[in-house]
Amino acid sequence: MEASAYPEYLWEFLTWQQIKERLSIVDTAIIPCGSIEQHGPHLPVDVDYHDVAYLARQVAEKCSDPKPFVLPAIPYGVSYHHDDFKGTLSITNNALSHFVYDLGCSLARNGIRKIIILNGHGDNAPTLKYAAQMINRDQHIFVCVETGETSDKDVYDLIDTPNDIHSGEIETSTTLALRPELVQMDKAVDATLDFGSRYLDFTSARGVPWYVRTKRLSDTGIMGNPTKATAEKGREIWEVMITHLVRFVEEVKESEPEDLYQKRY
Ligand SMILES: [Zn+2]
Repeated sequence: MEASAYPEYLWEFLTWQQIKERLSIVDTAIIPCGSIEQHGPHLPVDVDYHDVAYLARQVAEKCSDPKPFVLPAIPYGVSYHHDDFKGTLSITNNALSHFVYDLGCSLARNGIRKIIILNGHGDNAPTLKYAAQMINRDQHIFVCVETGETSDKDVYDLIDTPNDIHSGEIETSTTLALRPELVQMDKAVDATLDFGSRYLDFTSARGVPWYVRTKRLSDTGIMGNPTKATAEKGREIWEVMITHLVRFVEEVKESEPEDLYQKRY
């Protein structure tokens, strides 16, 4: 069955009365958060924003009824490290955390008891976690930030490139699967990173987070290997990400907040 153009879980298409009615049966909302930043010479700057909005809708669509609310996606994120490349539009950590904090508090005042912040841009993670902590501190509701944790392990099993973190095999594949007309494969180059240390490896389970301006690691803005990307891999990656997120969102949605806290909160 074709999905509706105005599904009942998308906050922006509802009237206040419809939202009020749904709030009596749904207490879970997903906030997708992306970024507008350079994605190499071969991908558009909207990849993180487009993909996280798409992911949130796909996940909600596949959840059981009543489906969780999905908020309009936040386009901008913390991307200062890509500033050397035109097209990058970065906001500060403070601006993003304040914005998400205000939004979370507003959702709580509406009656939302569980917020899932779906993060499409890895470098938003510390800022979104900070906002989540502050929302939880002040509103006493469940707030979490998902930056791929539910499926990263499986996604890395599907690809060949280590440290494939930006515009590489993963993101080029996922874009080929959804919007091939926006991918300029003739401009894609192998920019595989090798730090020679499993502790500095960005995708290692033992990796320690560290921060660097992209320009110091890559002339093209690519960090990874887009030449290995295929639409088929992209479809598999989407499938894995959506499947795990649906399971996770279902768990959160179906649980009483008290059970999520194991009654110890
Ligand atoms: Zn990206």
